[in-house]
Amino acid sequence: MSVADGAVVDQPGNNAADNAAEKRLVAKGDTDISRSIAVIGGGWAGCTAAVELARAGFKVTLFEAARVLGGRARRIETDRKLLDNGQHILLGAYSETLRVMQLVGVDPAQALLKLPLQMRYPRVAGGPGGMDFVAPAMPLPAPLHLAVALLRSKGLDRADKLSLLRFSSTARWMGWQLHQDCTVTELLERYDQTPRLTRLLWRPLCLAALNTPPERASAQVFLAVLRDSLGARRAASDMLVPRVDLSALLPEAAAKYIEANGGSVRTGAKVQALRSIEGRLWQADISGAAVGGMWSTYFNGVVVATGPNQAAALLHGIAGCDTSAACASLIALEPETITTVYLQFAPDIRLDLPFYALLDDADNHEWGQFVFDRGQLDPAQAGLLAVVISASASAAAEQQDLLAEAVAVQLAVAFQRPELGRPQWFKVITEKRATHASTPGLVRPANATGLPGLVLAGDYTASDYPATIESAVRSGVAAARLLKGA
Ligand SMILES: Cc1cc2nc3c(=O)[nH]c(=O)nc-3n(C[C@H](O)[C@H](O)[C@H](O)COP(=O)(O)OP(=O)(O)OC[C@H]3O[C@@H](n4cnc5c(N)ncnc54)[C@H](O)[C@@H]3O)c2cc1C
Repeated sequence: MSVADGAVVDQPGNNAADNAAEKRLVAKGDTDISRSIAVIGGGWAGCTAAVELARAGFKVTLFEAARVLGGRARRIETDRKLLDNGQHILLGAYSETLRVMQLVGVDPAQALLKLPLQMRYPRVAGGPGGMDFVAPAMPLPAPLHLAVALLRSKGLDRADKLSLLRFSSTARWMGWQLHQDCTVTELLERYDQTPRLTRLLWRPLCLAALNTPPERASAQVFLAVLRDSLGARRAASDMLVPRVDLSALLPEAAAKYIEANGGSVRTGAKVQALRSIEGRLWQADISGAAVGGMWSTYFNGVVVATGPNQAAALLHGIAGCDTSAACASLIALEPETITTVYLQFAPDIRLDLPFYALLDDADNHEWGQFVFDRGQLDPAQAGLLAVVISASASAAAEQQDLLAEAVAVQLAVAFQRPELGRPQWFKVITEKRATHASTPGLVRPANATGLPGLVLAGDYTASDYPATIESAVRSGVAAARLLKGA
C-alpha cells in the first residue's frame, strides 16, 4: 500500500489487504485524505468541479476514461486531421463558462469569434425561402435590438414580423415562464406564429438549442433560451463560435490549473466501481493504462461527472446504499443524437459568412441545418465546412458516404455553387448520446444524491437550461459548492 497524492492506494482483488487498508484508514482518521476529492469524468462539468475544488484548497484527482479531456465537447484526431467531435456554438449568456475560462487562463476574446445573434440563410435575394435576420451591432437594450433587427430583416413579411413581436412581448410579460409546460409546437400555435416564421426561426432555434424537435420539445426550456437570446441585452445574445479546438477551449487549461493548485489529472483512467467505507470515505476502483492496471484509491468526497447512464451504473453498483431514486431519474433521461458532417474542399473555398442556417427537408434528403466555415475560425482549417444536424436519428441511419454526398449536394444547391457538391474528403461523426431530450415537464436529477460526500455533476442535472456546455459548467460549480459546504 502506498500513499500517493494524498490518497491511499491499494490493489483490489485481495480482500484481506483491502480490509486491512480500510481499517487502517478509518482508524487513522482523516489525516492523509482529509480534503481529498475524486472527480470522475473530465468533461466540462467535471473539469469545472475540479477547478472550483482545487481553487478552494481541496486535493483533487480528476479521472477521465478517455485519453483526451472534454467529453462530449472535445478534440478528436482522424486521418491526421484535428477536428471536434461536433461543431459547437456558445452564447454571450454563458456567464459561468466564460468566467471559468478566464479563471484557468483562456481569453474568450481570443478563443471565440463573437457574432451578433443571427439567423441568416444563403440565397435570400430572389430565391425561394430563407431570411436574413441579424441583431444590430450597437448595444441596444432588449427588446429594442430585436425591433431593429426585425425592421432590417429580409425574407419576412409584415405578418411574420408582427407575429414575432407579439410572441416576444407576451413572453416577456409572462416573465418567460409558463404555468404548465407544453410542447414548443403547442406554444407557437397558442401565439399564432406564422408557418414561415416557425419554419425559418423557431424550428431551427429549437433544434439548435434543445436538440429536440418542436413537437417533442419543452416550451418552458425553450423560453429560458429565448429569455437569454432574443429577450436579453445585446452582449448576452451574442453567438460565440470556438476558434480553437474544444479540448483547448477549457478542459486542457482546466487540467493545468488543477495541477498548478496541487491536484492531479489522470486520463485513460476509468472508475469501475465506488464503495462507501463506513459512511465516511469513498473507495474508487480504477482501471486503465494510466494507473498501470487496476487500483483502488480512497477519498473523502466524490463528484460523479460522467454522462447520466454511466452515473447510473456507478451509483447502482454501490453496495449497501439505496440509490434507486437517483438511478431511476438518471435512466429516465432519453438520449438525442447530433451528427456533424465535415466536408473538406480546396483551401481557397470559403463562404461569405462564418456560418449560415440551412433549410432542411428530411423527405428530400436535405439533412443539413447549419453550416460553419471552419477556415474563417482557424486558418489551419481553410476549406473545411462543418454541417450540423441536430436530433439526427434518421440522418444517422443513412449510410455515411450517402449522407455526406446528400449534404454536399444540399450545399451546392443552397449556395448555387456546384463546387460545393464535390468535396475532396468527408467525415461523418454521430454522437448517439449527444444530449438528453428536453421534453415537457421533465424532472432532472439534483446534484445531491442523498449519500454523504457523493454528488453528481453534468449537463443533465436540474436547471432551467437545456443540456449545454453552460448547464454542464453550472452543474460543476453547484457540485463543488455542495462538497465545499459539506
Ligand atoms: C455533437 C454535439 C454538439 C453539441 N453542440 C452544442 C452547442 O452548440 N452548444 C452547447 O452549449 N452544447 C452543445 N452540446 C452539448 C455539450 O457538448 C454537452 O452538454 C456537454 O459537453 C456535456 O458535458 P458534461 O461534462 O456534462 O458530460 P460529458 O461531456 O459527457 O463528460 C463526461 C465524461 O466522463 C467520462 N467518463 C464516463 N464514465 C467514466 C468513468 N467510469 N471513469 C472516468 N471517466 C468517465 C467520459 O469519457 C466523459 O469525458 C453538443 C453536444 C454534442 C455531442
